[in-house]
Amino acid sequence: MDKIQMTTPIVEMDGDEMTRILWKEIKEELLSPYIDLKTEYYDLGLEHRNETEDKVTVESAKATLKYGVAVKCATITPNAARMKEYSLKEMWKSPNATIRAILDGTVFRTPILVKGIEPCVKNWEKPITLARHAYGDVYKNAELKVPGPGKAELVFLGEDGKEIREEIHSFQGPGILQGIHNTEQSIESFARCCFQYAIDLKQDLWFATKDTISKKYDHTFKDIFQEIYEKEYEKQFKELDLEYFYTLIDDAVARVMKAKGGFIWACKNYDGDVMSDMVSSAFGSLAMMTSVLVSPKGAYEYEAAHGTVQRHYYKHLKGEETSTNSVATIFAWSGALRKRGELDKNSALIEFANRLERATLKTMEEGKMTKDLALITSLKEVHVQNSQDFIKAIRQTMDQG
Ligand code: NAP
Ligand code: MG
Repeated sequence: MDKIQMTTPIVEMDGDEMTRILWKEIKEELLSPYIDLKTEYYDLGLEHRNETEDKVTVESAKATLKYGVAVKCATITPNAARMKEYSLKEMWKSPNATIRAILDGTVFRTPILVKGIEPCVKNWEKPITLARHAYGDVYKNAELKVPGPGKAELVFLGEDGKEIREEIHSFQGPGILQGIHNTEQSIESFARCCFQYAIDLKQDLWFATKDTISKKYDHTFKDIFQEIYEKEYEKQFKELDLEYFYTLIDDAVARVMKAKGGFIWACKNYDGDVMSDMVSSAFGSLAMMTSVLVSPKGAYEYEAAHGTVQRHYYKHLKGEETSTNSVATIFAWSGALRKRGELDKNSALIEFANRLERATLKTMEEGKMTKDLALITSLKEVHVQNSQDFIKAIRQTMDQG
């Protein structure tokens, strides 16, 4: 059979440890035999990031803006232990943070549902996609410990010399203080990413904050979403029979527990951090969560939500057998190939992405799965696969048609 041809390359960002091993095998077994794979390759493995003084990360993000679609392998975020392990020149920033800063995007995380892995919440029938605002709030805070009695104020010094002050608290004794911020520009691009993604997926969009308590901060999020919705998206939502709905974060949590799924839940930065781990664990496993960064500049970067699975890699290095789940990484590739196919009107590529996903799910539904899922499946007959054999089993399912 002739291989599927591609017209535009996908930006390929290679990574670290166990996921780097899986990456190569996925390409060899599941992609290259079927597609004349066109990628622009960037090695984001920590050694190469260190050699290039992290320039490779910036270049890969710029290439993503140029081509529109990237697929990324999990990468190590350096800490003190990694500085030593890899003799790093510097404690390079998290590649994801660098890429996000350049693409200015919103991260959408969706669990992969498969028969035999039941969500803890019984009424969840369809995936819930979490959209997390990835800028500001407590992640870019200023904080201090208050040593003793005194008055704390919020002070804004305008460039025009005007000053705005607001009392925070008069301390009678020691305490703590924190200052957080966000920008209208970042909230606006977050809102646009969410509305656009809801249209792409043809799913309802929920958004929730605590605007009854935070009457200026959270309320601004609510107002910006509402304004952009009415001005730019309401017509399209109505045409597609989609709903945008705003509610309080505590009400949203209660409703999510009773919902069937099949919608996008947009959250502020901290809420999104916490809720995405809750949603992914409740759906079964972190190893079954996909992630896509959608940029308002029109670029998409696909990846697995989990890390480099370091513990398994060290076993692999000792020559021991591993059973690492490659599903989220496979779905990162299929997501990127599908998007490339949509942008290029390449129906063969779209059909291949669908076929790869179907084969992956079918393989698991036949009881062939890695250890992490074997431990939680409701299937009676399970054949636990090692990392390599699981990928080979998917290949077999693919070839059976
Ligand atoms: P991790 O790689 O997600 O793994 C944590 C644990 O979760 C594993 O030890 C394993 O549990 C389980 N697990 C995760 N993915 C799995 C998979 N595909 N198959 C089977 N089990 C899986 O997180 P980490 O160990 O905290 O971080 C390792 C490195 O990844 C760090 O250097 C971190 O900086 C990096 N990281 C990168 C990204 C990214 O690039 N997006 C995200 C997060 C972390 P068991 O050991 O119990 O089997
Ligand atoms: Mg988290």
